[in-house]
Amino acid sequence: MKKRMLCCVLCSVSAMLASCEVHWGEKSADVPWWLIVIPTVAFLIVVLYFVGKHLSSKEHVCPRCEKSFYPKWWQVAFTVHKNGEGVLRCPHCKTKGFCRVSHKEDWDVW
Ligand SMILES: [Zn+2]
Repeated sequence: MKKRMLCCVLCSVSAMLASCEVHWGEKSADVPWWLIVIPTVAFLIVVLYFVGKHLSSKEHVCPRCEKSFYPKWWQVAFTVHKNGEGVLRCPHCKTKGFCRVSHKEDWDVW
């Protein structure tokens, strides 16, 4: 099912990229597909890196063993988030689940 969805998305994106015509006022010009794709992908990678760095600096707590850990930036950047929780694999008990962000550090400031 996921492969079929990915195939549909790739086909529609490639169909859209086949003709990239830019209109600026009265002028119009054909733009090569890579001039749109490469900056977009580079921007997404930079955004995911900084979001991942920010989230990985926060202490996460495992829902099963209650131990805390700091995930890698790519683990939090490419996972599902919901209400301050992210699907992560605990390095202590190897369980994958919604690990909440510990707000203990916020209180240590005061
Ligand atoms: Zn655990």
